[in-house]
Amino acid sequence: MNSLNQQYEEKMRPCIDLIDRLRSLGVDQDLGLPAIAVIGDQSSGKSSVLEALSGVDLPKGSGIVTRCPLELKMKKKKEGEKWCGKIRYRNHEEEIKCPADVDKKIREAQNTMAGSGAGISNALISLEIASPDVPDLTLIDLPGITRVAVEGQPENIGDQIKLMIQTYIKRQETISLVVVPCNVDIATTEALKMAQQVDPEGERTLGILTKPDLVDKGTEDTVVNTVHNQVIHLKKGYMVVKCRGQREIKQKVSLTEAIKRENAFFNDNVHFKTLYDEGFATVPKLAEKLTLELVHHIQKSLPRLGEQIKEKLKHTNAQLEKYGDGPPSDASERFTFLIDRVTAFTHDAISLTTGEELKFGANIFSILRKEFTTWKDTIDNSGLTFNWNIEREVAQYERKYRGRELPGFINYKTFEGMIQQHIKQLEEPAVQKLKQVAEIVKKELFNLAQCSFIGFPNLITIAKLKIEAIVNQKEIEAESMLRTQFKMELIVYTQDSTYSKKLGKRKREEAEQEKLSVRPHSSNENGATLKEMMKHFKSYYEIAGQRLADQIPLVIRYQMLQKSAAQLQRAMMQMLQDKEKTETLLLEDFGIQTTRSNHQGRIQRLSKARILLTEFSMNIYNFNSTPVQT
Ligand code: GDP
Ligand code: MG
Repeated sequence: MNSLNQQYEEKMRPCIDLIDRLRSLGVDQDLGLPAIAVIGDQSSGKSSVLEALSGVDLPKGSGIVTRCPLELKMKKKKEGEKWCGKIRYRNHEEEIKCPADVDKKIREAQNTMAGSGAGISNALISLEIASPDVPDLTLIDLPGITRVAVEGQPENIGDQIKLMIQTYIKRQETISLVVVPCNVDIATTEALKMAQQVDPEGERTLGILTKPDLVDKGTEDTVVNTVHNQVIHLKKGYMVVKCRGQREIKQKVSLTEAIKRENAFFNDNVHFKTLYDEGFATVPKLAEKLTLELVHHIQKSLPRLGEQIKEKLKHTNAQLEKYGDGPPSDASERFTFLIDRVTAFTHDAISLTTGEELKFGANIFSILRKEFTTWKDTIDNSGLTFNWNIEREVAQYERKYRGRELPGFINYKTFEGMIQQHIKQLEEPAVQKLKQVAEIVKKELFNLAQCSFIGFPNLITIAKLKIEAIVNQKEIEAESMLRTQFKMELIVYTQDSTYSKKLGKRKREEAEQEKLSVRPHSSNENGATLKEMMKHFKSYYEIAGQRLADQIPLVIRYQMLQKSAAQLQRAMMQMLQDKEKTETLLLEDFGIQTTRSNHQGRIQRLSKARILLTEFSMNIYNFNSTPVQT
């Protein structure tokens, strides 16, 4: 079995080791690693081939025997060194003392992972065997493809198995070994069809023909042609092997003896002797070919692997950043951690309400600016409707209030009454605006709490309760201020000089316009009063409107932003005084906790993987660049 020469071994061993080390780091959870998967219909001889390659007895028999993916890691030891084995699954790890125990241990593992019935599981069982008699090779044995469910199996067992096989063979990093018995028509086998689906060119598919001793008389040439790659072409070609049949197993023919018998079989067979001479037959030749194929495959995959690790690390780091650092385990450090998180939050809340740059969340001021602009529009629009209503209103007031004065004289009470009524119409819209802003502030602060305390559901809940209470309270205070403002607005007042200036300007403007207008003046006596009245209204409304356009936003900003944020800060700090509550507040969301530690684990794995890869390529470089000594 030692036909591989020394130089090959020196070159190949590190390659396979590298991948095995990556796999034992768990990197195969993050990305596909170069591997060889064995697929085939039930009883096609998969396990027998693996047995012959590994020299250990694996579970076999009729029906479904392989029920979990089995990773078979083989490591070649130096001649004379002791056999050793190890099995790993889930959290279980166990030494295996002798090859005869392997079968039993695998069955135990399968029962643990897939139940004691006939069910299957996707969980990987890993078997490591080191011995002078095995090739350096890692193979994955998969359950055989079946069509009909037997008792105790779910109806869709066939689909489940196919799905599992697909997940392995669809990866670019997997070489598929398709096991087909010589006594069936290769073109009709399900396994080959599946392999062709994911690898139409057969770039990474290798055919293995088994049971050549059972070939139907007269079809030997088809087998020879198939192995010569003339029937269904696969780039990696075919091999033919003969393993122990049922009878030989009953007779307890050893695996070493089986290899001898296989050799004799091919050597003596008139049909298959050519294949033997050409190196297409026997298990040892298969081992040699597989090792070579795997090594080539690994060498080809390495640059891509490096890229993938880099990508994945970058992505995972970005993800982790979102989840923040977890709380420390030390009690006093935990309290400090809590203080830091709460302080950062209140600091951000103040930044939010003063319009400073924030890590999360929108700029609240750009939202508020829009709201306040629409407030100004409300005031302006209400001013415009003045013109529209005025005629009717004036007629009404004239009837009610005009006393002894002649037309054209305005009654101050009428003027005041109409101003008051109009300004009052702005009161509800102003309160409405306040409510809208309160909602916005609440939403933005909630959002901030959610981002700042991600992963700590209790902290989020408490912060939200406090925000809710404070914003509501400030809203009440702000509303009362607004209402007071509108009560004050019932007093028609502005500085004399301000009013005179406004009125004078308006009169001049209107006189200008009158000169330009060709329309004859209204002779209606109401018209004169009305026009006079309008000048006063418009002048005063402009002044009062300007006052309200600024005053309402000021009140809202003061109460809803400035005071809310300050009070939130006090409330959050007060919460910290109760040190007993630290643990409750720091209770982590289970999902987030797991996600974070998954990410952290992945980063650790991938960082180690990157180091391994770098070391490996440096060694290769050194190896290749060593000048030849002459
Ligand atoms: P699996 O279901 O694909 O894993 O198939 P097994 O390896 O369990 O083999 C199924 C049956 O075929 C077993 O009884 C083996 O002894 C038998 N078998 C496997 N290879 C050969 C072979 O080359 N010649 C003969 N005669 N029987 C074989
Ligand atoms: Mg099997």
